Amino acid sequence: MFVDPRNTSRQCSECKHTHRSNRVSQAWFACRSCGIVIHADRNGSRNIAHRADAVWQRGKVNCPSVAR
Ligand SMILES: [Zn+2]
Repeated sequence: MFVDPRNTSRQCSECKHTHRSNRVSQAWFACRSCGIVIHADRNGSRNIAHRADAVWQRGKVNCPSVAR
């Protein structure tokens, strides 16, 4: 399933707050809104999973290679 990867490394997987300063280092993510501290790759992968789940819930597989 295709999901838009934009901002997955800057968006908080808990509260959806998106800001570049949330990403404090290559390894770590610290949300400026809710205060969660989480490994950056785990945060990003949770965002991708949430987006894929949202696409799945809408019942539409958003894959560019089969769209045309
Ligand atoms: Zn947050």
